[in-house]
Amino acid sequence: MPVRKCQDLVGLLADYVEQQLPPAVHDSLERHLSACPRCVAQVKSYQSTVTLLRTIKDDELPPELRCTLKSFLDRNCRN
Ligand SMILES: [Zn+2]
Repeated sequence: MPVRKCQDLVGLLADYVEQQLPPAVHDSLERHLSACPRCVAQVKSYQSTVTLLRTIKDDELPPELRCTLKSFLDRNCRN
């Protein structure tokens, strides 16, 4: 499945960051990124959020904050 539109990328973002995409899809996504600064910014903000979440232990994260971060990610994904 080639990544042609920004919308195509959105659903793959999580797997891309986790390096879980099949190589063909991964390449296709990176080709899109090379032509689309907006999606690069989206990947970066997603990555930094994921990194932030990983640095916080589950029991240190209040449920409200978890929700806030989740809605941040969801909002990001609807661009
Ligand atoms: Zn794009």
